[in-house]
Amino acid sequence: MDDCLFCKIVAGEIDSDLIYEDEQVIAFKDIKPQAPTHILIVPRKHISTLLDLEEEDNQLVGHIYQVAKELAKREGIAEDGFRVVSNCNEAGGQSVYHIHYHLLGGRDLQWPPG
Ligand code: 5GP
Ligand code: ZN
Repeated sequence: MDDCLFCKIVAGEIDSDLIYEDEQVIAFKDIKPQAPTHILIVPRKHISTLLDLEEEDNQLVGHIYQVAKELAKREGIAEDGFRVVSNCNEAGGQSVYHIHYHLLGGRDLQWPPG
C-alpha cells in the first residue's frame, strides 16, 4: 500500500525500534510512548481499520493476541497487568490507518481511558 506509514515500516523503508517479527506481524516501540512499555503489534498485511477485517483474518487476529501475550511476558509486565488496545476511526483515536494493537504496561493504567 503506497503512502502507508506502517507498510513502510514493515518493508524496512522507515526505521523502527523493532522488538519482534515473524511471517505475519512485526512489533516495535511506539515513537511517543504513553507508558513505560508501549509496543505496537502490526500485521504485515495492510488492513486499514478494524472495520475492514474479513473472516479470513481471524487467524491473524488470534495470532496477534498470542504475540501480545508473549511480549508482555518478555517485557516483564504480564504479572502486574497490561492492556492491549486497538483504536478505530477518528472518534476512537486512530491516527495511522493500518491496523495495530497497542501493548501498554509498566504503570497503573486508568479506566475508563480518555
Ligand atoms: P493510533 O493513534 O492510530 O491508535 O496509533 C498510532 C501510533 O503510532 C501512535 O501511538 C503514534 O505515537 C505511533 N507512531 C506514529 N508514527 C510513528 C513512527 O513513525 N514510528 C513509530 N515507532 N511509531 C509511530
Ligand atoms: Zn499499510
